[in-house]
Amino acid sequence: MPRPQAELANDLSWIQEAHVQHYIQSWSVQGQKPLVITSAQGSWFSDSTGRRYLDFQSQLVNLNLGHQHPAIVSAIKEQAEKLCYIGPAMGNDARSELAELIAEITPGDLCSTFFTTGGAAANENAVRLARHYTGRQKIVARYRSYHGATAGALGLTGDPRHHLATLPGGVVRMFDPYQYRCSACSTGRTDPCPICSGGPHLEEILMYEDPNTVAAVILESIVGTNGIIVPPDGYLQSIREVCDRHGILLILDEVMAGCGRSGKWFACNHWDVVPDILVTAKGLNSGYVPLGAMTVSRPIADWLKKNKFPGGLTYAGHPLACASGVAAIRATIEENIVQRAAESGEYLISRLKKIGERHPSVGDVRGKGLFIGVEFVKNRKTREPLVPFNATGEKAAPMSAMVKFAMEQGLYLSSFSNVLRITPPLNILREDLDFGCEVLDRAFELTDRYAEA
Ligand code: PLP
Repeated sequence: MPRPQAELANDLSWIQEAHVQHYIQSWSVQGQKPLVITSAQGSWFSDSTGRRYLDFQSQLVNLNLGHQHPAIVSAIKEQAEKLCYIGPAMGNDARSELAELIAEITPGDLCSTFFTTGGAAANENAVRLARHYTGRQKIVARYRSYHGATAGALGLTGDPRHHLATLPGGVVRMFDPYQYRCSACSTGRTDPCPICSGGPHLEEILMYEDPNTVAAVILESIVGTNGIIVPPDGYLQSIREVCDRHGILLILDEVMAGCGRSGKWFACNHWDVVPDILVTAKGLNSGYVPLGAMTVSRPIADWLKKNKFPGGLTYAGHPLACASGVAAIRATIEENIVQRAAESGEYLISRLKKIGERHPSVGDVRGKGLFIGVEFVKNRKTREPLVPFNATGEKAAPMSAMVKFAMEQGLYLSSFSNVLRITPPLNILREDLDFGCEVLDRAFELTDRYAEA
């Protein structure tokens, strides 16, 4: 028998108990009691004891417009009253409006969208379409990348979670333009090395692989989960040129970096590069209803008028998701969110750089817009990482201690290896940015204990 609803509302302890007993949590050993969240507004959320936390992560870097944005909430309610679901082949106002809006905000000739329920499914469809369109099989993907947790997307992923995937067919790896850790670029040369300039490294790989066998290159325009790595100017253009030379499609995964996060509508706008396929999700509707999108260029859209699209989902173009996406894009425009993200990002990066100077454990502060990484080191000169790559448990203790301290002070953060990712909602208030900086300044004293002065 289900518990009586009145009992559920009055007793919050059962939530943790049921979570432990009956719920499987992503990427975790099970059995940990969770923090129970009872409300959220703007950049803040509150737990069942009434404690408030500033969300410096936007949860999973998806709440670009913060918690409970009224325009998105109303749009979902109105759509639910009108039409909760209709099959993907039917015409629907929310679906058509979102597809048209995406064609407007995306760069160049990107014009036609397949909707999914998230980033992984959008990447799966992008890669499958690239293979059908080109008639080739191989995909070039990078090491410091995360593309999602379904079989194909995890196979594209370069971070250690790819070991959990069944062996991916036809994925070829390339290195990342990680200048801070690149042995050639970090020794004082002014121009990026062949790897960090992109094209020469890709050309060399293609020489061995045979470009005629490669369907697509897939990249995060700015690396997210794996350390907020911003490519040097010219990198994306040079990858684009090599792709064009060999008839290879360029797929940009902007599931995290897109929709205003980097201070432009899309991160590729920073370098005026237009991909053949752009993948978005997360910030597209601030994640209020599961939504992902794969948007293709005009030549691919035209090809699809003569060739069948090789994919489909029961929830492709779900009206509730599309209505929330329309509301999110309209609010982003009306509230000047992209510009605000650029300005807040400049302010936050410059404050973090100043704070970092006082802390020997801070090696690098980097990012664009509100897509910011702080990289921690044992020694600034040698750049030895504060914790090893993919460290967990005791090995990650210096980073975990800092994140835990911040949480106790009311600041919600996340880190991967030795990089702290700072990705607050794009409409965050200046006073909240200042609160976050004050807590970080104190939290970095903990990481300093493990660094050489
Ligand atoms: N691509 C990137 C760049 C991501 O950051 C993520 C998720 O974090 C994904 C794809 C997968 O998205 P989803 O979890 O919605 O499947």
